[in-house]
Amino acid sequence: MTVIDFLFPKKCLGCPNEGNYFCSSCRSKIKSIDRLVCPVCENPSPFGKTHFSCRSRYGFNGLISFFAYEGIIREAIHQLKFKYVTDLADEFFEILLKIWNEDKDNRFLQIKRFIKEKNPVLVAVPLFWYKENQRGFNQAEIFAEKFAQLWSLEFKKDYLIRSKFTPPQAGLTQEQRKKNIEDVFSLNYNIQSPISNIILVDDIWTTGATLKTCGAILKKSGIKKVWGLTIAR
Ligand SMILES: [Zn+2]
Ligand SMILES: [Zn+2]
Repeated sequence: MTVIDFLFPKKCLGCPNEGNYFCSSCRSKIKSIDRLVCPVCENPSPFGKTHFSCRSRYGFNGLISFFAYEGIIREAIHQLKFKYVTDLADEFFEILLKIWNEDKDNRFLQIKRFIKEKNPVLVAVPLFWYKENQRGFNQAEIFAEKFAQLWSLEFKKDYLIRSKFTPPQAGLTQEQRKKNIEDVFSLNYNIQSPISNIILVDDIWTTGATLKTCGAILKKSGIKKVWGLTIAR
């Protein structure tokens, strides 16, 4: 905590209320995403499982997400990216936990089974569009750690690493984005351990290009099943 945090009390990220980053009024307006989708075609799919017809050798086995990327959620993700505040991350995760515990329509049934039966390891998508000298926090890593604790699974820090700098993705076409992130990520070969299953965590799913690239790297390395997990979509 810095002096600034002491001088300025916590303010709601969605309105002028003070005291919390998510005030009770704004909390009540937060909605989980309507339905989970197949990570390949992005059409609705029960439990976020990849449709049978969408399956491929290096593709995801499924994807879960929690919030729509809008309003206070969008703001919180943005804030965390540039200024890591423990309290904010904690409050954020607390709200996410409600959705997890509520488990509307049993949407998390399949990933719960995956967790229970396959004992997957949590891996975070590395921060990759920041220049080295720019301040940026890998919230994917922060959340991956929290999920690991929650589910009593192992979190492997820096399992995937960024191998070169690329310009920001914003403003690029889907094709350009795809090209942009090719060869950007690689496995950290300092980490030697036999892992069969992974839950790959990132903050947002937009085109899914980043996650798909990372997922394919993992599968090519011999990982059997990879589920994607994003905070928002
Ligand atoms: Zn508020
Ligand atoms: Zn599909």
